[in-house]
Amino acid sequence: MLDADFFRRWMTATAASVDREAERLTALDSAIGDADHGSNLQRGFTAVAAELDKETPATPGAVLVLAGRKLISTVGGASGPLYGTLLRATGKALGDAPEVSEAEFAGAFRAGVDAVTRLGGAAPGDKTMVDALVPAVDALGDGFAAARTAAEEGAAATTPLQARKGRASYLGERSIGHQDPGATSVALLVAALAEADAK
Ligand code: ADP
Ligand code: MG
Repeated sequence: MLDADFFRRWMTATAASVDREAERLTALDSAIGDADHGSNLQRGFTAVAAELDKETPATPGAVLVLAGRKLISTVGGASGPLYGTLLRATGKALGDAPEVSEAEFAGAFRAGVDAVTRLGGAAPGDKTMVDALVPAVDALGDGFAAARTAAEEGAAATTPLQARKGRASYLGERSIGHQDPGATSVALLVAALAEADAK
């Protein structure tokens, strides 16, 4: 079973990983965007980690709702509302259970991904974070390691695509040949699940 502490570790592991990879995320965003994805997420997840240090939400749902709210309030641009919605909707779907099974988490994460596609209007193949989120959630039933591999493969598979949503879509065909920054950061978020589980 996964308790509030697991979800807190998930968020702090994500913050550490985003911190390590911020330059790479920003470099990807400088190729097909405005070079702020790394700093956006770094600011957001640093604030999330600080908030979770201060507050001690008692349930998995409350941890994720708090994290989502913090991302929305600290990250501008497209990714703040999208990431915030992902975590908030996942948290809401978990309700107020003190512990959840991996299967319950997988169902809730799917609700979170659905909320992202409703908000952003992106479908798989549009070269966005959705291209890593959907394969990850599809693989979650096979465990965190499988989800991590699926997210990484999904992110890599965005390289040959032409962007149809977000800032990168303004580039048209020139967006081809670069990996999507948001799909890349989703792979970090999903990889952090296995890290939180190992602790
Ligand atoms: P901004 O584009 O406002 O500068 P970021 O650079 O932080 O925001 O995030 C860019 C990422 O957001 C993209 O790489 C893409 O994965 C994701 N994104 C942008 N628009 C959408 C959308 N409509 N749906 C899903 N993801 C999106
Ligand atoms: Mg950007």
